[in-house]
Amino acid sequence: MIDVECYPLEYFENFKKKSNAKSYKDDCDSFELREKIRDDLLQKQKYQCAYCEKKIYKKNSHIEHIRQRDKFHKLECEYTNLVLSCNDENSCGKYKDSNKNPIAKQWQDEFIHPVVDNPKKYFIFNENGEILSFNQNAMKTIKYLNLNNPKLTRLRKNIILQLSYMDDVDNLLDYFNEFENLVKEYI
Ligand SMILES: [Zn+2]
Repeated sequence: MIDVECYPLEYFENFKKKSNAKSYKDDCDSFELREKIRDDLLQKQKYQCAYCEKKIYKKNSHIEHIRQRDKFHKLECEYTNLVLSCNDENSCGKYKDSNKNPIAKQWQDEFIHPVVDNPKKYFIFNENGEILSFNQNAMKTIKYLNLNNPKLTRLRKNIILQLSYMDDVDNLLDYFNEFENLVKEYI
């Protein structure tokens, strides 16, 4: 999970003031605004999904409400509640809010927050490409976002394997350009 910096986006703050925005869906339905949000978050997240750290671009990502809009109305238009997530149906933002997710209804507000918490403190990776934690909420977060689905663990394992042959290459973070916390752990 990416540690997303929490400074506000001036354009969004001005937009909210001008339009007295209360609902994200109705009051923030502006193409220009959403483009600005995407551009800013892509920079902050270094083009990685906030949850799984896979490479994302504008076209294969969506603006994600960390705390669900329908349950946390007050956070709907808060910039600190927004990140960009990949569009994978089996993990991250889309999975989190879907009917497929067996724990979505029972548990959702204590999970590790990419903006407010410092996710680096909570997660590690084993050599099979699995993400692990010793913290209860972080363990639930892994399940909640399905961060150990087979596709993701395969991708991570593959990177670990590549890293084991690449110890003389400079700037490995730039080389892979995704999964930054995994690469940092295995450098
Ligand atoms: Zn993702």
